[in-house]
This record gives sequence, C-alpha cells and structure tokens, in this order.
Amino acid sequence: MIKYNFNKKAASILTAVTISCTVWSAAPVLADTEVQKYTNTDFAMDTVVSETLYTTGEDINTEIGNKLREIESGLLSWTDEDSQIAKLNASAGETTEVSEELAGYLARIEQLASDSDGAFDPTLGKVIRLWDIDGEDPHVPETSELDALLKDVGYQKVTLDGNKVTLAEDTTLDLGAVGKGIGCDVISDFLKDQKEVEGMILNLGGSSVFAYGHKPDDSPWKVAVTDPRDTEGDYLGVITLEGGEFLSTSGDYEKYFMEDGKRYHHILDPKTGYPVWNGLDSVTVICDSGLLADGLSTACFVLGREDALKLLEKYNAEAAFVDEDKNVYLTDGLKDRFELMKNTYTVKDAE
Ligand code: ADP
Ligand code: MG
Repeated sequence: MIKYNFNKKAASILTAVTISCTVWSAAPVLADTEVQKYTNTDFAMDTVVSETLYTTGEDINTEIGNKLREIESGLLSWTDEDSQIAKLNASAGETTEVSEELAGYLARIEQLASDSDGAFDPTLGKVIRLWDIDGEDPHVPETSELDALLKDVGYQKVTLDGNKVTLAEDTTLDLGAVGKGIGCDVISDFLKDQKEVEGMILNLGGSSVFAYGHKPDDSPWKVAVTDPRDTEGDYLGVITLEGGEFLSTSGDYEKYFMEDGKRYHHILDPKTGYPVWNGLDSVTVICDSGLLADGLSTACFVLGREDALKLLEKYNAEAAFVDEDKNVYLTDGLKDRFELMKNTYTVKDAE
C-alpha cells in the first residue's frame, strides 16, 4: 500500500507562485516606501504555513504562527485532551458549556451541515479515526464496522443552546474540514487590529488561503490551483483574490492511499462512510469567510458539481470544479479571475 500526504509539497509550490514580489520599485509615495515585506514558513494546524506580510510595523509572523497553534491546541484538536473539542467528545451524552467563540463556530457549522443536506457533517469523528487515512494504520474497514459507527453520525446529534452543547452519546465531533478555515478567520480578525499591516497572504497547507488588505503596488494577490493528478504537485491554474477573500480547496489527492487500483481518500460520504467517488478530483471555493470557504469546499466535493451550485449561491460563493476528465468548471464570478496554465485541461462553464 502506498500512502500519500500532499500538503507540504503543495504548500511550498503554492507559495512560490502565490506572491509576485515586484513590489518595491513600483512604490511611488513616501508611505509606501516605509512598508516592509516579511516572509516566513512555519508549521501549525498539522500543516506547513506560509506567510507574507506587508507592514510599516514589526514582523508579526511568529505571533501569527503561535495564534494558529493556540487555536489547534485550545479549541479544535481531537488528540490534545485540553482542547474544547476533545472535552466535548469526552462528555458526549451530557451537556457541556463551551466558549462563546466555539459556540459561534458550531452554530455556523450546523447551519452548513443542514444547508448541504448532511453532505458536510461534523460528527464523522469515529468513522474518520477508523479509516486512519493520515495516521499510522490507514486501511479499508469492513462495511459492517462502518455501518456500526454510522448510527452515531448525523449533524442532528448536536444540540446547541447558546453556549451549551449536547452531543448525543457515542457521537464524536471532527472539525477537520473547517479547522484551517477557522484559523484563517482568526488571523484575519487579528490583522484588523494591527493598524500598521497593509497586506498579508496566509497559506495553510496549500488548501486554505486568505488575502488581507493590499500590496504596496496594488497588484492583485494570486493563488495557484494545484493539478490534482500531477505527482510533482504542479499547478493547473491561477486565481486572483481580492483583499478580504478566502480560498479553500478540497481534493482526493491531499491525503489518500491506493489499494487494488482504488484511491481511498479523506473526504467521506456521511451516508455510506466510504470516500466520495463521483468523478471530481478537487473543488476550490472562494468567499468572504474562512470557515465557510473550507466547509463549502468539502460539502461541494461530496455533493458533486450540479447539486453544489445551489449551495454556493446561497453563500454567495464562487467555485472551480476539477474532474477526472480534465475539465475545469468555473462559476460565473470566477471566469475573469482564473488563468489556465496547463493545456491538458479544458475550461468550461459550471452554471
Ligand atoms: P483539508 O483538511 O485537507 O484541507 P478538507 O477541508 O476537505 O481537507 O477536510 C477534510 C477533512 O474533513 C477530513 O480529513 C476529515 O477529517 C473531515 N471530513 C471528511 N469527510 C467529511 C464530511 N463529509 N463532512 C465533514 N468533514 C469531513
Ligand atoms: Mg474543507
């Protein structure tokens, strides 16, 4: 069995093409000449973090990395027993009080689960652990094992009442599908209080990216879209982002193993417990929230292109769907913002 984890490579390549650095020569006014550029590579939220910051103040990249690690260990981690999610899971069957911050995230997560008709489901925890796709023992479980766990899966098994959360007995939360997006939201909010920061692009593992503010020369932020079938992690196109936009990609190439010629990857159909095989290789979503971009890319991957369109419309989000026949389907709002870099792919309209 061959096991792959694509994230690190994707992140480094993405970083290389994400930022066009011809900034200084174009800065015409005095204020802009004082802007400094700081880049950093870090490790947080189980992935490589690439940061590029434009500021008249201090280099705050280390602080940003620390904040991401705090979100992971204090809030989202299922392994760190001090995290709020781990505590919630440990007290399934009872009512637990959580922070206002987590209660707010859970409300949006439950709404997205309902809006996607359960395609996105935060209660797949035990099923995800059973597959162990990014762990020590990735393997194909018996259908009977999956069926036994699926009875405890379902977003309706989470009850929210303000800050009080009740998980049904034996139900386990896993927020892996929105964790990096939440990380982007937290950093974006933090930057709004940092008056010296003019712009930033933050890239978590190649799959969650956000652009903040602007570059000193006002040239657009650019983000690469990975070719899901390029084993070198090469990219198939580039998307332009505005400051304030968040981008997330979910794909069957990020974490997977091959067995008997079949690709067992990390995005699961909550109805069956098996990976989603619907002809899609990846979905990239752009919108004005990290949590939603991340959650929507997972949901849209599960739903498939046609059913995903209505969900995207509801959230005012744009998307690029890459399928196994090497088509790139773009929603209307992306048509002028996507540049194809590989002629083995064909661009089509998603709508
Ligand atoms: P990545 O974490 O690589 O950015 P995604 O955002 O698509 O990718 O999230 C995939 C992760 O979400 C999986 O590793 C798993 O933890 C969890 N997950 C898998 N299937 C679902 C699903 N249908 N709904 C919600 N979470 C899921
Ligand atoms: Mg996601």
